[in-house]
Amino acid sequence: MRRPYAYPQGRFAYPQDRFAYNRKMLQRFHVEMIHLALEDQFSPPALERISAANVYQDRLRGQIGHDEYHFDNNAFEKSYAYIEEQRALTISSLMTNDAPSAWSAFGRLTHTAQDFYAHSNYIDLWLARQPKGARPTPPEIDPVDPSVIQSEALRSGKIYLLDLLTFISMLKPLVMPLLPRDSHAWMNLDSPERGPNFNYAFQAAVKRTRIEFEKTIKGLPDEVCQLFLDKQQGNFYE
Ligand SMILES: [Zn+2]
Repeated sequence: MRRPYAYPQGRFAYPQDRFAYNRKMLQRFHVEMIHLALEDQFSPPALERISAANVYQDRLRGQIGHDEYHFDNNAFEKSYAYIEEQRALTISSLMTNDAPSAWSAFGRLTHTAQDFYAHSNYIDLWLARQPKGARPTPPEIDPVDPSVIQSEALRSGKIYLLDLLTFISMLKPLVMPLLPRDSHAWMNLDSPERGPNFNYAFQAAVKRTRIEFEKTIKGLPDEVCQLFLDKQQGNFYE
């Protein structure tokens, strides 16, 4: 399977991202989610463009002042609005025959949708709602359980100034105990090191990516849909 944007741990597409490392899900997981969810739908070049736009949201400048890209700081309404804005942009780009812009907008949309599970307590709340003693496996996660999405207890990690110090890996063990438990540093499920709930966040994000895809193409005329999937006649890559 092609993994055009999967960078080995410790390497970064943009050098400055080294400093933003602890604030985001590793790029390779976003890319893997895109592949697992959409590989059977899009042509490889389209998928590559979607992946590139997805991971570009985590560039340093995409993290400062852009809670809505990542569901940070309890910016739920702004993040939902951002998803819908990118969906509208995807469709309007397709209507003007601009498939590359549509792929980029859809890539940005998927990034936000995927970060929801890594940056909020959705997984915790969903697991807590299961019958006593039951522990469903990660693939059994329901990514859009309305009782959790509408729950008053739903929160996402806050970014504190002190977080900046955790950028320096030597200081991280000293700073972590000082950060409140509602901080992004404590709440995130960005990597497997964060514990067993990471797998639930990962599976939920893959499922949610498919749901967002279905929602985006719903009602599109056939020829517009084919343009989006980049699978018009003479344009197969198999
Ligand atoms: Zn992000």
